[in-house]
Amino acid sequence: MQRLLLTLSVVLVAATLSCLTAVGVAAPALAEGTVAKDARLGGDRLRTRFVTDLSKPVAFNVFTLAEPYRVIIDLPDVKFQLPAGLGRKGRGLVTAYRYGLIGPGRARIVIDVNAPVLVDKSFVLKPQNGQPARLVIDLIRTDRSTFIAGLEKRRSRQAAVKPKRKSSTPQVRLPSAKSSRGRRSKPVIVVDPGHGGIDPGAISKTGVSEKTIVFNFAKALYRALKATGRYKVVLTRRIDIYVPLRERVAIARREAGDLFISIHADSLPRRSAKGVSGATVYTLSEKASDNEAKALAAKENRSDIIAGVDLPKEADEVTNILIDLAQRETKNLSIAFANTVLKSLRGTTPLNKKPHRFAGFAVLKAPDVPSVLVELGYLSNRADEKLMVSRSWRKKVAVAMTKAVDSYFSKRIARVPF
Ligand SMILES: [Zn+2]
Repeated sequence: MQRLLLTLSVVLVAATLSCLTAVGVAAPALAEGTVAKDARLGGDRLRTRFVTDLSKPVAFNVFTLAEPYRVIIDLPDVKFQLPAGLGRKGRGLVTAYRYGLIGPGRARIVIDVNAPVLVDKSFVLKPQNGQPARLVIDLIRTDRSTFIAGLEKRRSRQAAVKPKRKSSTPQVRLPSAKSSRGRRSKPVIVVDPGHGGIDPGAISKTGVSEKTIVFNFAKALYRALKATGRYKVVLTRRIDIYVPLRERVAIARREAGDLFISIHADSLPRRSAKGVSGATVYTLSEKASDNEAKALAAKENRSDIIAGVDLPKEADEVTNILIDLAQRETKNLSIAFANTVLKSLRGTTPLNKKPHRFAGFAVLKAPDVPSVLVELGYLSNRADEKLMVSRSWRKKVAVAMTKAVDSYFSKRIARVPF
């Protein structure tokens, strides 16, 4: 109740300030079982309306973000049953939008806009005259300085409401992963299915999304690793939900992971996709091995932007030096594991022409957990896509990867007893 009052008071403050970033709350309603069934855009490049049909009214919160310009609508546990492909085509000020879960019981719609905008109106209509309940957001074009002023106002209001911000950044507790490894019996393998929820990742021409392919593969790998009885296996997500990149890193460290394996599937635009196929294993490096790897890391690192996360800027030089030291050993182990994976995958699934590459992937930045990112293949390549959706392929590749894990630890155990 207190939280509700707090939310309402924020709304009142917002209303009295006639804020540049609008906040709205509709009539209170039980959120359980709310379904979004359709959505549409109307208007032009000066004023654009976004409407989504709901099975019943819900409370919502709407705000804007910059770099790039976005409008974020936070909702309770809304299930999206929108027609496939909706949101990929824009209109007026909107270039595209996406939707999905961003946390337990928390859904979100992220609208990409092609210019700075103001949320002119935002409200929920009750069902009437045979029409369903509707969430309506009216966007109008503004200039950048008005937009940025609105952002600053919202941030300072938030800082006043939330006195203590709990950071999920793992970097300050550097020794955690190693010190808690201690005398335990089984190595911990953290398997990280990329993307999820509001962030679909790459999408193939036939409409298959990366988040589904990598989730199915991660489950197969989880089962194969578990079946050996030799490992504790942790998944960074167990359902179709968005997990921020730094949270994935934090999970690896909290669990004192001995290995972190992030699973992805790449896709290239048509002009560069011809003839490019096969699996690639990536390790962390500030300097990318090549331009393609650099572009891929930039694309994968956009996950938080896609999900509408407002990233705090942080630069702690001391922390960076500590991380640099810890990462030297971690880096060597990551490279050793990447080579072992490639050796094991060769002959099991097609490999890319240059199968080991490096770049600055945010998800590989746990300073004391050896980490690799595996791109299983290319969704822009028909043959790769066919393999990646096949259950028997998944099983075969998961077993090969498990062999690589076995081989990595047998070497490690021989040298450094656990
Ligand atoms: Zn990906």
